[in-house]
Amino acid sequence: GIMTHPDTVRVFDAIAAHGGKARFVGGLVRDALLKRDLVDVDIACDLKPEETVIALEKAGLKVVPTGLKHGTVTAVTDAATYEITTLRIDVTTDGRHAEVAFTDSWLGDAKRRDFTFNAIYCDQDGTIYDPFDGETDLREGRVRFIGIAEDRIAEDYLRIMRFFRFHAWFGRPPLDPIGAEACRKGAHGLRNISPERLRDETLKLLRSRSPAATIKDMIGFKVLPVILPDLADTSRLRMMEWLDSNALADPAIRPDPLRRLAALYRAPENTDDDFLAATDFGKGLRLSNDETERFAAMISDASLISADMSEDTTRRDLYRLGVDAFRDAVLIAWAARASVPPRPGSVENKQWQGLLQAANDWVPVKLPIQGRDILVAGLAPAGPQMGRLLKLAEEYWLANAFVPGPDELMAYLAAQSAAKLQE
Ligand code: ATP
Ligand code: MG
Repeated sequence: GIMTHPDTVRVFDAIAAHGGKARFVGGLVRDALLKRDLVDVDIACDLKPEETVIALEKAGLKVVPTGLKHGTVTAVTDAATYEITTLRIDVTTDGRHAEVAFTDSWLGDAKRRDFTFNAIYCDQDGTIYDPFDGETDLREGRVRFIGIAEDRIAEDYLRIMRFFRFHAWFGRPPLDPIGAEACRKGAHGLRNISPERLRDETLKLLRSRSPAATIKDMIGFKVLPVILPDLADTSRLRMMEWLDSNALADPAIRPDPLRRLAALYRAPENTDDDFLAATDFGKGLRLSNDETERFAAMISDASLISADMSEDTTRRDLYRLGVDAFRDAVLIAWAARASVPPRPGSVENKQWQGLLQAANDWVPVKLPIQGRDILVAGLAPAGPQMGRLLKLAEEYWLANAFVPGPDELMAYLAAQSAAKLQE
């Protein structure tokens, strides 16, 4: 695993050569205990950040000074990204960012972390230091704040999101009642958290195995209304629940945070396919441009799809949308249909499955002629006229199930141009 990888050994050796002591902490230790694999390695160390930089550079490692102010130095190798953070305590906070002071106390460093299972340290030789018995909480599926939950939340309100995200990842119901109650009390504080930090946690939540139950909790504990007021309605969960329990039975379909978000966003009764509104929503959430585009496309493409689509239309949509977007659109449309009564009968469900099968069987095709062919044949100069002819050829080609080859398409265009001249 990554803990014994040569690159990791180099990082630890570099710190030791400089007189420092380092331990694994956070996600990596947690996931190692759960036997999951990770390439995002969190390390705590007792060197000051500037010394860490020198130590790593001396050992020839590539260093990115990500968060020097907060004591974090990042080393990047082919194998992993190492986030090396100097032991620290939080002195003051405005509920968003803590003013930090460095310390040489490992326990002090542990106390400023959020949850018991995020404060498990591990030496290179595998020795575990677990000051708050996080391993038991992890085993029993309990997300437990270190210290007084209410105080810890007031230090950094993002911890509310992390509480639910980690519950979705590792928790077993019921929620830790003390933590959940503290989240309810502190939820208003999420208003001041930067949208980027909220986005990261939201997407991580949507990446969990089945987020619907946790989102329901976030509605119940009045957290979701603060960050995503438009989505804070349990009836919206039906589509996502349906997706996660039905669609994922097909091995070709992977769980997907953006698709889940689309299922949450698009109320089943709502056939409103407003691409622009969905784009605004995605931007507001600080999704990347690509993510926003994909999200909004799912919303608007879904309204193109119906169970009884002809083969012809299916082919066109596969060609126009591409197979991934087509599959997304089918899933969203099916989920919308399946999550309100009257539910589709078995015949209709077969049709939906047929659409997904068509996607699995789809072989991408390309229009067999290009603008150059039109130019060479003297049918049109480069420009809008050529564009119109290409469009015409594509329509004909689509209507004939992609069968016509270049000769037939050119003959068709020539005939069309001749007819045009006759008019
Ligand atoms: P992931 O798998 O998402 O990386 P992680 O637990 O490693 O999970 P990081 O954001 O990488 O999360 O943070 C690393 C460690 O830093 C955490 O395990 C936790 O100990 C501490 N930490 C991170 N964010 C906070 C926070 N907002 N408040 C307190 N401690 C935090
Ligand atoms: Mg991490």
